[in-house]
Amino acid sequence: MLEYITCNLCGADDYRILYKSSKEIDPKNKFSTTGGIMGTDQIVKCNKCGLIYVNPRHSVDEIVGAYSEAEEKGYVSQTEERRLTFERCLNLVEKYSKPGRILDIGCASGIFLDVAKKGGWEVFGVEPCKWLVNYGNKNFGLNIIQGTLKEANFPSNYFDAITMWDVLEHTPDPAGELKEASRLLKNGGLLIVNFPDIGDILARIAGRKWWFLLSVHLYYFTPKTLREMLKKTGFEPFKKRLHFQILTLGYLSDMLRLYSKPISCMMSFFTKALRIENLKITYYASQVNIISKKI
Ligand SMILES: [Zn+2]
Repeated sequence: MLEYITCNLCGADDYRILYKSSKEIDPKNKFSTTGGIMGTDQIVKCNKCGLIYVNPRHSVDEIVGAYSEAEEKGYVSQTEERRLTFERCLNLVEKYSKPGRILDIGCASGIFLDVAKKGGWEVFGVEPCKWLVNYGNKNFGLNIIQGTLKEANFPSNYFDAITMWDVLEHTPDPAGELKEASRLLKNGGLLIVNFPDIGDILARIAGRKWWFLLSVHLYYFTPKTLREMLKKTGFEPFKKRLHFQILTLGYLSDMLRLYSKPISCMMSFFTKALRIENLKITYYASQVNIISKKI
């Protein structure tokens, strides 16, 4: 069942349609960490504040339920490459905070936590997907809590740093998540959020074909709308940085199937023929970090 929602940033129920829905599919196939289908949802823009979001959409129970039950073999197949990305992420955290207690929200299999633990941090994670939680706890010796952030119910003023890597745009109530993150952080504590920037030049050029317009994304932030939300939820955003990721060429060509099956097949064919499917590449694809402190 689809339901209509109001703007998560300003509360208005006043929007215009940016993209119409092109197909209706089962939510079980729509929501997973590495999955997502293009063009399934109507995407609207708030006339009051400019926030872009999916409306109407599935109920929170359907969305969280689908994430909880998903199986994520594709995600863990890229553990080594993701580790390289997360080493860069930890360097970013440590530019602004000494090692202490860190929480990664939507931590998937906990690769970032494993990196942070080796760097001397006391690590905590929460993740709805049972499969990924089991994988991380078993393979990295972590203690990831399965569920949503609110269900985890951590104590107030507990963490020195909180991170959300590719997570906020997947959550049904991002302002609620940020408010909860603010409660959990110590005063002056660090929050780093990365997200695909729908206002960036690549997104503008790609338009309806932008690779992040996926069923898994319920919100599409720009630095402006995210900063507004951060200010309303107890943060002072002070820095924006481009976010670079590292994955293998083979994995990226496989991910391209979401975008165009013929291009994906062609790229897979050539990367295999040339034996470069394991080549690691660093790339920028519209992702941005906003760094804030709790005030
Ligand atoms: Zn609004």
